[in-house]
Amino acid sequence: MINRVKGTQDFIDVTLFNYAISKIEKHLRSYHFTEIKTPLIENIELFKRSLGTVTDVVNKEMFIIKPAQADGIETLCLRPEATAPIVRAFIENTITRLPWKVFSTGPMFRYERPQKGRYRQFHQTTIEVIGSASIAQDAQFITMLDRLFHETFKLDNYTLNINFLGTYEDRKKYTTVLKTFLDKQITGALCKLCQLRKDSNIMRVFDCKNADCQKIYQDAPQIIDNLSNESKKEWEQLKEYLDLLSVSYSYTPTLERRLDYYNKTVFEFASQSLGSQSAFCGGGRYDQLVHMLGGPKEMPSLGAAIGIERLLLLLEPIRDRLTIDQESALHIIIPFSKDQKVLALLLADELRSHDLCTDVIVDNASVKSMMRKANKMGATYVLMLGEDEQKMGKVLVKNMTNGTEEHVAQIDVVKHLKK
Ligand code: AMP
Repeated sequence: MINRVKGTQDFIDVTLFNYAISKIEKHLRSYHFTEIKTPLIENIELFKRSLGTVTDVVNKEMFIIKPAQADGIETLCLRPEATAPIVRAFIENTITRLPWKVFSTGPMFRYERPQKGRYRQFHQTTIEVIGSASIAQDAQFITMLDRLFHETFKLDNYTLNINFLGTYEDRKKYTTVLKTFLDKQITGALCKLCQLRKDSNIMRVFDCKNADCQKIYQDAPQIIDNLSNESKKEWEQLKEYLDLLSVSYSYTPTLERRLDYYNKTVFEFASQSLGSQSAFCGGGRYDQLVHMLGGPKEMPSLGAAIGIERLLLLLEPIRDRLTIDQESALHIIIPFSKDQKVLALLLADELRSHDLCTDVIVDNASVKSMMRKANKMGATYVLMLGEDEQKMGKVLVKNMTNGTEEHVAQIDVVKHLKK
């Protein structure tokens, strides 16, 4: 017995998964987004350059692929996220119609420690707006996500956390201020990880789970107090837009997101009911990423990723409140003996050509056991074909919901079932 790989899942019933994806897609299309697909494998350099070499995703969590016949030049990996690939596709396909509003759904791979809501293969819907600088775009984008979760999915047990990281210059200035503050703490006050992060990727200290460290960070200088006047104005504008659009949010000064490329607006939708892996959607602005990945010029952009598995964890308990399409009625044809098998297969063909979901029980068994089987399969109608029916050009139709049986001419059976 070979078991599935640690941190992966089998989806045996995909009803809720498909429901969620189709609702997300419909919602995004109504905001004028179109779907694209990019490969699951990319050059590792793409992520080193975009996410930053000191981030956990690049440093510790990459699934690196070494093809058996590799010539040793290329180093490939399974994508850990899709923003960098979408930006690569934007540059490589010389997209000129701006803003480029696209989304893509598919699996991502990160070698993380598996736990509830955290897997090594998981799905994201990534949504990007490339080529738009206006802060009104950020407001529209966040509102779009909030409407999706609140109105389409009827979720109310979540918060929208927002922070504003300013421009890269603001951030540089702020990290010096933060460093001075952290350097002033008594030796040993910060945990080992925070000590390391202080010197490598300073804003990541805020992500620390240690309560003592968090206590210190409550008094840490906040980035919004260290913004340029221009950035300050944008931050105020963003909040005003969100207020006017009736989007509730919580200002979270320690929110920095895990990936290096963000600037200005960053946000996360999180729900306490998910436990420690509480964020189910996150994103922000990345004004320099296009240029960093070789684009001809700076291209202000923003995006987000919805974690599908975590969204499903939130939807499962409220499944009854969602309008999930019922599976279509199932028609099972039972040929009583092998003499009726061809007729059964032809009749099934006819039903399917009229969009009726149909299956035929082809294994030889007694009529009683075939009926039991049809019932177990969830048949709405059972169509019985015996020697008599074959001779009369009829079929015995049993309605499994009310138990009634009726002989119907084979040429009228579709009309009868569609009635
Ligand atoms: P990120 O790409 O890290 O910004 O993540 C965006 C969203 O993807 C998160 O808010 C999670 O919902 C989801 N996510 C990230 N990593 C994982 C993982 N290992 N397993 C399941 N979902 C994840």
